[in-house]
Amino acid sequence: MDKMLSISVVLLGGTISMAPSKNEKGNSGEGVVPSITADELCNAVPGIEKIASVKPKCIKLIASANLDIMDVILLKKIIEELAEKDISDGVVIIQGTDTMEEMAFALDLMLDVKIPVIFTGAMRSANMVSADGPSNILGAVIAATYKPLANSGVVVLMNDEIHAARFVQKCHTRDVGAFKSLNGGKVGQICEGKVLLSAPVKKKQSFQIVNAHPVPKVGLIKATLGDPGDLLEYYISENYQGLVIEAFGAGHLPEKWLPLLDRVIAKMPVILCSRTAEGPVFENSYGYPGAEIDLIARGLVPAGILDGPKARLYLMISIMAGQEICKPDY
Ligand code: ASP
Repeated sequence: MDKMLSISVVLLGGTISMAPSKNEKGNSGEGVVPSITADELCNAVPGIEKIASVKPKCIKLIASANLDIMDVILLKKIIEELAEKDISDGVVIIQGTDTMEEMAFALDLMLDVKIPVIFTGAMRSANMVSADGPSNILGAVIAATYKPLANSGVVVLMNDEIHAARFVQKCHTRDVGAFKSLNGGKVGQICEGKVLLSAPVKKKQSFQIVNAHPVPKVGLIKATLGDPGDLLEYYISENYQGLVIEAFGAGHLPEKWLPLLDRVIAKMPVILCSRTAEGPVFENSYGYPGAEIDLIARGLVPAGILDGPKARLYLMISIMAGQEICKPDY
């Protein structure tokens, strides 16, 4: 009989760990709050003990809006140690869905290990009918035992679907199928308790962080109809180290932004991405002032398919790695 694989389950919090709050009289207060431990979550998954020897560990119990890049660095250290010392054959990270795509992408940019690393969470808290937490944990543990997934870098498993960190986005506030791979196919799915790969994605670059203190201030601004662009001034006066602009369509900004934009570019790297959900920013099609050819000539770096939040992490991590800011290889 094959040896049972050892899978570490690291909990950060999120809806999956939430239950109705209690007020000081012990009565149910308003709304759900993080309170369920990593052990309790894993114990509530029927059949998990047949898949792997699961080692739950709670490092935080918070809503995912409160996570930040230092938590990604903490996860990197934990996972590297588990992999290097042969303690775990795979790692599952459980957190809130609100920032899961950013945490997964940032970790993917920093981590280089030979074991599967899977993020999961839940859209429904444990007290709700048809809570999706237990099946997501089960799917994630199954995925973490599937060695070939390590080649895809960090992935997200939700609703039995496996998504590469660079493509995944939360696209719905409520649906258990909220996570989709935009700009690329799903890596695979769980079917009858097994991983089926469909479009295996290859892990790309990873960055060596050389300076994480202080965390670089990198902003994100979105172009909107008729906006005069005054906010650009803020990033200069507040000494930001980088800026990402979610431009219209294929990468277009109002002409009236250009004088201020030139001042921003003189101070910091600026990445150009699209506020449109799918498709890369263009580089060589439109010739008017404020269109992508002009913006790139002024010094903006095109983001490829990365959306604003992911381009911001890419820029932040490139700065932390002391790397020249170049077009992401996606
Ligand atoms: N709604 C969130 C979740 O799905 C809460 C959070 O992200 O922590 O977990």
